[in-house]
Amino acid sequence: MRWSKSFLPTHRDDPADAEAVSHKLLVRAGFVRQIMSGIYTLLPLGYRVVHKVTQIVRHEMNEIGAQEFRLPSLHPAELWQRSGRWDAMGLEMFRFQDRRGSDVGLGMTAEEVFAHHAAELRSYKQLPQIWYQIHTKYRDEARPKSGVLRTREFTMKDSYSLDVDRAGLDRAFDQHFDAYRRIFKRLGLDTIAVEASSGSMGGSESVEFMVRSDAGEDWIACCEACGYAANTEKATSVLPPAEDEAGPDAPEKFATPGVRTIDDLVDFEGGAPAERQIKTLVYMVDGKAVLLLVRGCDTLVEQKVTDSIEGEEIRPARPEEIREALGALPGSLGGVGVTDHFIVADESLRGRRNMTTGANEDDFHLRGVDVERDIDVKGWLDLREVGDGEGCPMCAKPLAVQKTIEVGHIFKLGTKYSEAMGASVLDSNGKACPVIMGSYGIGIERNMAAVVEGSYDEAGIIWPVNIAPHEVVITVVKPKQVECMEVAERIYDALRGDGIDVILDDRDERPGVKFKDADLIGFPYRVTVGPKGIADGVVELRRRADGTARDLAMDHAAETVVEAVMDERS
Ligand code: ATP
Ligand code: MG
Repeated sequence: MRWSKSFLPTHRDDPADAEAVSHKLLVRAGFVRQIMSGIYTLLPLGYRVVHKVTQIVRHEMNEIGAQEFRLPSLHPAELWQRSGRWDAMGLEMFRFQDRRGSDVGLGMTAEEVFAHHAAELRSYKQLPQIWYQIHTKYRDEARPKSGVLRTREFTMKDSYSLDVDRAGLDRAFDQHFDAYRRIFKRLGLDTIAVEASSGSMGGSESVEFMVRSDAGEDWIACCEACGYAANTEKATSVLPPAEDEAGPDAPEKFATPGVRTIDDLVDFEGGAPAERQIKTLVYMVDGKAVLLLVRGCDTLVEQKVTDSIEGEEIRPARPEEIREALGALPGSLGGVGVTDHFIVADESLRGRRNMTTGANEDDFHLRGVDVERDIDVKGWLDLREVGDGEGCPMCAKPLAVQKTIEVGHIFKLGTKYSEAMGASVLDSNGKACPVIMGSYGIGIERNMAAVVEGSYDEAGIIWPVNIAPHEVVITVVKPKQVECMEVAERIYDALRGDGIDVILDDRDERPGVKFKDADLIGFPYRVTVGPKGIADGVVELRRRADGTARDLAMDHAAETVVEAVMDERS
């Protein structure tokens, strides 16, 4: 590849709206361009990286015996209606009607279509199998963000395991877990595997692979002492027991004019610290109001609500629905005396005494509330978000809460999709049983960006050899000087002959510009060929990661470069 003939548009300035490092650098260094919100073109450099990531993923999937498919992107509504996800996916699914008026959805994941094909399986003897594809996914994300970390069109490796029993599913899950570990290692990503919520997928168990990064959108809680790690959508903690003083025999109502929030009540004379308040949130579960109680200092995790309460439609109640259910506005809500609505409380409220909460009358609160005495709690659940430093649920040592990027996700699905699509096989006793499925995803562009988030300096990106757009750049200091160009061409040919992915910077530009571009783009190795070196019979080999440089004898330079690159390939 000759730079002078290539499209490698680099910019000195960050794109205006970018915050994430990977967003800035991938645009500046000429890897990607946005053409509308959350929709990106991969320029040649970006596509080279994506291609290499894809090849690593493909290799590791093939190693566990997975078979590659290519599904269409256009999915008939009918398949998604059978699983119930045509409605459940809501606005996140791109949809349209074809000329006959048939509803079509753009593939955002492929459980339905793969399960549809699995309906051709007949016997347990054909199982286990793992099916996969590496293909474009479409998701009309509410908030596309951070360059290619969260887009509306992206490439995903999605695989699906098909088994006859739970033990088979466990095996396929473990195989994927190990394959993912190998993939991320080869990409140069330091991942942490965390317990996760299964969300709208359904299913029993799920693990996310996370990379610590400020550009992430997920929070995890992890314990260095015992290795416990979970997404905060799912994480739990142990809290020190609360020591409440006994209060009055019954709650006491008091006026709180203008008090609307937990903080207002903290500051209000005769109010209460947040930890001693009960926060009351109202959700609509299939049209019925349900009260959710947490401590004033806590945040409700909506995912925990949807994961633990059964219902087709679960959403926060609107002000008018709240007024109808409780007779007051948010700010004065509480569970005391409420009998006609289901009340669920967070475990941290169990046994608490002498608490303060809203009186279901605007501008009034109740103090002296004993939760179990005064509130008809029907269910105790874990609803709150864990905080940094709280006790690990396994070993009680302090948890660290950290921001992360989700780079991969593996699910034990069960039979939801196979039952919906009629995918069953005869077991060894001749009995028909639904195929047990797992589903496993890796976002290709997001992984590319996650690598950048963890590997850059003030000059630009630092690619690991495995996925660098080119492994080596040969920078010709004076391309117009015949000898300079000849030496460079010789090394270029030798490297190419040895299978090294090399680009020759033969542009008629100042050396400073070339060095800057090479650093910004982040080629792992740079060979500099200049007249001064040639006079001494040497070229310079510089390693991008640590800036170390050494002179190599001109005539044997290629061998050393090949060795250095090969050493870092895996
Ligand atoms: P998120 O919580 O970030 O929205 P998800 O749980 O919806 O992710 P999955 O459905 O599990 O993601 O998809 C599998 C993988 O696809 C993710 O681990 C991630 O690497 C990638 N991915 C998901 N959504 C996007 C997106 N909008 N843009 C880029 N990559 C994505
Ligand atoms: Mg998502």
